Amino acid sequence: MMTTTHIAVGMTLAYGLVVLFPAFTPVVLGVAIVASIFPDLDVLFEHRKTLHFPVYYAVVTLPATVFAALWPSALSIGLFTFLLFAWVHSVSDIFGGGAEARPWEVESRHAVYVHFTNRWLPPDRGVRYDGSPEDLALVVAFSVPAFVLYDGPLFYLLVVNLSLSVVYTVFRKQVPDFDLS
Ligand SMILES: [Zn+2]
Repeated sequence: MMTTTHIAVGMTLAYGLVVLFPAFTPVVLGVAIVASIFPDLDVLFEHRKTLHFPVYYAVVTLPATVFAALWPSALSIGLFTFLLFAWVHSVSDIFGGGAEARPWEVESRHAVYVHFTNRWLPPDRGVRYDGSPEDLALVVAFSVPAFVLYDGPLFYLLVVNLSLSVVYTVFRKQVPDFDLS
């Protein structure tokens, strides 16, 4: 899925935490956005492996949840939010295409690496590839509630996020041609 899809999903889901911890709204929203992007930084290393942890993020989220619930602070809630949204990102990539330059060619059997079992999970391809029409539909679906929930800078961030998604979707199949490696 597109990184922008993860951002839209993260911002909508993060509102649940804003309701739970209203005193920590800036921390929750800032960290949720960063954590929704974070795993994809591994595109510079081994994509969908180096920073995607569908099992381990969940394992450390559990004690972080207890920590945040018992001792709510910017640090504990920030940590919990980060782990939760990095986990949501890692798991949702399983429902997309393979980690390959042209995922619409359906060659890769690698969706997300599970370090716990030392193997790749196969792509579910519910969303065939990042930047597919259904991926864009997901961005729209998760942006609509977020447009209602947020105003000010976050509203404009959503507008930019949606615009980038449209541009990426339109030009998605030209992207591998710019691969200079
Ligand atoms: Zn990812």
